[in-house]
Amino acid sequence: MQVSKRLKNIIGDGSDGWGVFYRARQMKADGVPVVELTVGEHDIPTDPDILQAMYRAGLDGHVGYQNFQGLPALREKIADRVQRSTGAPTNPDQVLIVPGGQAGLFATHNLACDVGDTALFIDPYYATYPGTIRSVGAIPKAITAKAENTFQPDAADIAAAAEEAGAVSLLINSPNNPTGVIYSQETMDGIARVCRDHDLWLISDEVYDTQVWDGTHLSPRALPDMAERTLVIGSMSKSHAMTGSRIGWVIAPEEAIGYMGDLATNTTYGVPGFIQMAALHALNKGPDFEAEIAAPFRRRRDLVMGLLEGQNVVRAIPAEGAMYVMLDIRATGMSGEAFAMALLEAHHVAVMPGESFGAAAAGHLRVALTVADDRLEAALRQLLEFAAEHARRAAE
Ligand code: PMP
Repeated sequence: MQVSKRLKNIIGDGSDGWGVFYRARQMKADGVPVVELTVGEHDIPTDPDILQAMYRAGLDGHVGYQNFQGLPALREKIADRVQRSTGAPTNPDQVLIVPGGQAGLFATHNLACDVGDTALFIDPYYATYPGTIRSVGAIPKAITAKAENTFQPDAADIAAAAEEAGAVSLLINSPNNPTGVIYSQETMDGIARVCRDHDLWLISDEVYDTQVWDGTHLSPRALPDMAERTLVIGSMSKSHAMTGSRIGWVIAPEEAIGYMGDLATNTTYGVPGFIQMAALHALNKGPDFEAEIAAPFRRRRDLVMGLLEGQNVVRAIPAEGAMYVMLDIRATGMSGEAFAMALLEAHHVAVMPGESFGAAAAGHLRVALTVADDRLEAALRQLLEFAAEHARRAAE
């Protein structure tokens, strides 16, 4: 079959590092009771009140072709929300509604990159990043955020990579998946400086902006002279437990929104009106609702941190935000992949190996805080016992 190199190339070397995930799914299909601490999806469905709004919007006639840029009322609401939460002046013409954050990643890289351009991203990374970059014909280049720097990227490393590769864009994600780390003011200032100095687009994935436990989420678009070169990605998936509704947005300079609108016209043809109306209804529920959706993850983060006390084999990366905790299991002498696979087979607990998110997270595990507290606690206890046993064996 004749298939474009671009599509054939999306997965890269052919191994996507998700072997443990697929094995867990297979075991579940075979009837094994696996506790899945793998994907970033809530253990609650979308609120029925939001679904009612979606249904009403459909009956009210929001079922036809839509304005490609998005409903004006929704764009206004999002502009207002972004301005309030980040401090950066934002108007509705700087907002494009897209079918989920993933579509925002695709649109922004299409805007920033020509075929053959180099696009930078930070390792550890959300699994789709390199594939998204390859899908627009650009070349992904990873910059390591080191475990010993609690996965905060170093501006000098970014500058060196930008220089060497003649890069056109940098993709960052804070609060971060998979590490749970929030980029500090110093990190963000450094990133902004490099983007200005090297004339890079900064693509800032902020889909976890409502899941902040320690410190503050800083949007780099609010930093001096950054609004003109920053493309922010937002989503209702995590903040409102609306993963399946596929709705998110891009914030960008008006001219850039125009070009990404052309892309939308020729790809998605916009987002369904009833979904946009439901999103508006959800956003109008306000910050208390968002805090309610986020609360279980903070509570479970605290639960995991408590369970780690009194042992020194497994070390947690300070989980400042998002719905994950990253654990350093290097004291067991095992790779993240070997540990996760062995834990799955022995105890039917599925966690993601750090290696699934890039070389920088080798020897780590990402635990998604996405099951009920009692099941999470039982699974974590098994993980800790398993780690202690392997650490003992490694020391013998
Ligand atoms: N960015 C990050 C960092 C994510 O973790 C996810 C989803 N797991 C996305 C983007 C995409 O989310 P969605 O398309 O559902 O908005």
